[in-house]
Amino acid sequence: MRVGVDRERCCSAGMCVLTAPEVFDQDEVDGRVMLLLDPVPAERVAEAREAVSFCPSGALRVVES
Ligand code: SF4
Repeated sequence: MRVGVDRERCCSAGMCVLTAPEVFDQDEVDGRVMLLLDPVPAERVAEAREAVSFCPSGALRVVES
């Protein structure tokens, strides 16, 4: 599974990093999301999906591979 990221929509809320810190990080300058794992390995898929569902700005989406 992959995660699609729209950094323009990211409002730097950080929910994704709190939910799946192995998958997401935030840019030190603007706080916007950075994807750490692409594709997301099987053992991280559940938390990555949860993080996508928690994103308040719709910046993340699941891309089935
Ligand atoms: S949860 Fe969404 S808005 Fe917040 S940092 Fe992550 S991608 Fe950006």
